[in-house]
Amino acid sequence: MAIATPAADPGELLAVRDVTKSYGAGPKQLVAVRDVSLSIREGEFVSLLGPSGCGKSTLLRLVAGLSRPTAGTVLYRGAPVLEVNPHATIVFQTFALYPWLTVLQNVEVALKARGVAPAGRRARAVRLIDTVGLDGFESAYPRELSGGMRQKVGFARAMAVEPELLCLDEPFSALDVLSAEALRGELLELWLNKALPTRAILMVTHNIEEAVLMSDRIVVMAKNPGRVVTTIAVPLHHPRRRQDTAFQAIVETVYAAVAGRTRPEAETLAQAGKRLPRARLNALAGLVERLAGEGGRADLPRLSADLVMELDDLLPIVEAGELLGFVRVQEGDLLITPLGQAYADASILTRKELVAGRILRVPMINWIFETLQQDDDRRVDRDFFLERLRAEVGDQAGEQLDLAVSWGRFAELFAFDGRTDELFLET
Ligand code: ADP
Ligand code: MG
Repeated sequence: MAIATPAADPGELLAVRDVTKSYGAGPKQLVAVRDVSLSIREGEFVSLLGPSGCGKSTLLRLVAGLSRPTAGTVLYRGAPVLEVNPHATIVFQTFALYPWLTVLQNVEVALKARGVAPAGRRARAVRLIDTVGLDGFESAYPRELSGGMRQKVGFARAMAVEPELLCLDEPFSALDVLSAEALRGELLELWLNKALPTRAILMVTHNIEEAVLMSDRIVVMAKNPGRVVTTIAVPLHHPRRRQDTAFQAIVETVYAAVAGRTRPEAETLAQAGKRLPRARLNALAGLVERLAGEGGRADLPRLSADLVMELDDLLPIVEAGELLGFVRVQEGDLLITPLGQAYADASILTRKELVAGRILRVPMINWIFETLQQDDDRRVDRDFFLERLRAEVGDQAGEQLDLAVSWGRFAELFAFDGRTDELFLET
């Protein structure tokens, strides 16, 4: 008698079932992921989010069939993945382009590897390069391209294989803040307009806002051993706006899940005053680190004494920390928030992104950033800002603008050029 198997879900592309992957054996054995299950349906954009070392790349390799699970199964369209999965392609953080080949040749190589006849290769490569927005750069060499453009060539090359399942391993984390944001927008546009030959996307990231911005579902992972903690749906329409309350609410939920804590009180950056607290962000960074080092809670007056700082000097830093959502004050104690903890745990690059994402929601910073972005050459006279600020804050305008510039520079968003007296966008 045939044993009835549960009817396969026809829309399901990928099913990872109770997968464990260990490296090595004996006492040196390392469990990279344990008992992980997840599935992806056609049309879905799923993010795998978690700290470094929680097994995200390991999972992608299993999905792509580049390695086998120690236990459990990986099914692709219902069939076990036992060799390299021809339907899934991985785009890595820094895509290895051949430096001696042009952009066009780099893409053609992928088509050749896929067995596309020479006659069709060139036209298809040109079309792919056009799709990712690099038309005009066909004959450029990788070294002539910015990081963002090189990553686009990586996307074009991955597309050449026409993967049903596109796996992205931290595709934006090697880029500067602005290039990353631009490239996220472009990828989303291609995906949402169905301009890609791709049915689903599985993206690995450790950037929470990126996950909320792009995906339909976020699979949150933790490490030691790598495992799935929870899955969070992102039921927001595109285009998504980081400053929207609903967006923020999901970001906070995800932070709480990542940090394993309860949801913090709603943060109201946009409602904060039109004045920046008189604090340098590197001082705030130091404070957050210190607080994390003390287990997340410290007595304010003692902190002030320890740091040899008048409370009056410390409080603006605390205020900046509250504005960014990194700390909060309770009964004379300073507490670190899950967001602050995430900051303290993050790499330098992630920290910059985190701060940039937060301060862009402070009205004054946002206004300066938007103004610069809308300008033709991304440079605007300092006096332009000063004049408008005077209407808001009177004779504090100069000090406020200097503070804003120092914040912008800290997050590598914008800076001041003393030779021309202009503010300009960092690239
Ligand atoms: P992530 O991508 O989330 O940073 P990885 O999947 O790269 O995590 O790694 C998960 C764990 O498995 C880490 O502890 C890492 O050191 C270990 N690991 C990854 N690949 C190997 C390997 N080939 N041999 C031994 N250990 C590995
Ligand atoms: Mg990785």
